[in-house]
Amino acid sequence: MNSNSEKETPAFCGGDPVRRKPLHYSHQSINEDDIKAVDAVLRSDFLTCGPKITEMEEKLCKITGAKYAVACSNDTAALHMACLAIGIKEGDEVITTPITFAASANCALYCGGTPVFADIDPKTYQIDPEDIERKITSHTKAVVAVDYTGQSVKIDEIKEICKKHGLYFIEDAAHSLGTKYKGQPIGSLADISCMSFHAIKTVTGGEGGAAFTNDEEIYKKLLLFRSHGITRDQSLMHHESEGPWYYEMVDLAPNYRLTDMQAALISSQLDRLPQFAARRKAIKKRYDEAFSELPQLFVQKEIPESDTVRHLYILRIKPETLKINRRQFFDAMAAENIICNVNYIPVYRLPYYEEHGYQKGLCPNAEKLYDEMMSIPFYSGMTDSDVEDVIFAVQKIVKYYSK
Ligand SMILES: *Cc1c(COP(=O)(O)O)cnc(C)c1O
Repeated sequence: MNSNSEKETPAFCGGDPVRRKPLHYSHQSINEDDIKAVDAVLRSDFLTCGPKITEMEEKLCKITGAKYAVACSNDTAALHMACLAIGIKEGDEVITTPITFAASANCALYCGGTPVFADIDPKTYQIDPEDIERKITSHTKAVVAVDYTGQSVKIDEIKEICKKHGLYFIEDAAHSLGTKYKGQPIGSLADISCMSFHAIKTVTGGEGGAAFTNDEEIYKKLLLFRSHGITRDQSLMHHESEGPWYYEMVDLAPNYRLTDMQAALISSQLDRLPQFAARRKAIKKRYDEAFSELPQLFVQKEIPESDTVRHLYILRIKPETLKINRRQFFDAMAAENIICNVNYIPVYRLPYYEEHGYQKGLCPNAEKLYDEMMSIPFYSGMTDSDVEDVIFAVQKIVKYYSK
């Protein structure tokens, strides 16, 4: 009887933790094939600008259905290249969501533009097309929509708005590799789509990114802005070639190239995407089943058009039903050795944005979500018993602290 009550008492209140060994909210999955792929590059002639970059780009085009893919150093770089390619400059406004990593908004700032935040749908957590439309002014140039948690945004509605107002549609698809919208893979549906291969993403190169487009003109610009604004493409040159060594710098840009070691790892991981996707879908289904039985929790809704490969799993509490708040819930999970995270702090609440005049209250749905959520462990390498540990910890905490 004693051991039973210790099992049911949260570790936060002196009970036994669900696990001895901490379980983190994300972890990469690296196998022998991945290691061999990187090893082979180190023994080859090219460490950068080599055949592994082309191989990775070709695989990405196949997976996403995009005509062109440009591998680059990370998604932040891809987003910056995208904003440069569509000519964002001082005075231009770019509409995005506050529930994202800062990079989705910073890309406008890098070009001298101004991020404008549209609120989220309170049930799907995705940017709300109606609020995008409300935030459009004569200065708006683009929408950066983020497939938050991996679920596709409402692509048709956003495309329609962009068409009507003459805006570019950039999709920050850092979370949504493998996801489909109306049966079509993410990556080929916006004017430019951008992906991340950071260590916690579904497929990783440690760091890494890519920008996708179906438009040849944009493609040429992305290539230019990946590498110093320097080109060997005759069609972009101002002067007659002076010889085989000749190149021109026709614009100003950083060096956003990726190494072949990273490209080889990403390429090897892309071969494993079907398994990663299936495992993520199975864990998401099990979590949804377990958490929808607890009225103290709200389970993220999905639009029927999205066939989602989840990147994050959001546990959202209904604070009015519990004696503890999100912070205490988060700490109670940590006491069980289940280490959560919060993705994300609304971007405009970050001090840099506050100092530039953005104020609390701008997007109430986003702020409410932020106050009530945490990202629980969710990655393809989790065992069934890891998943059940998370569920048991959540059930234990919810039951104990229920009003
Ligand atoms: C990870 C992430 C980024 C940044 O990606 P990096 O590859 O680390 O630059 C941008 N946007 C979102 C939504 C992300 O999750």
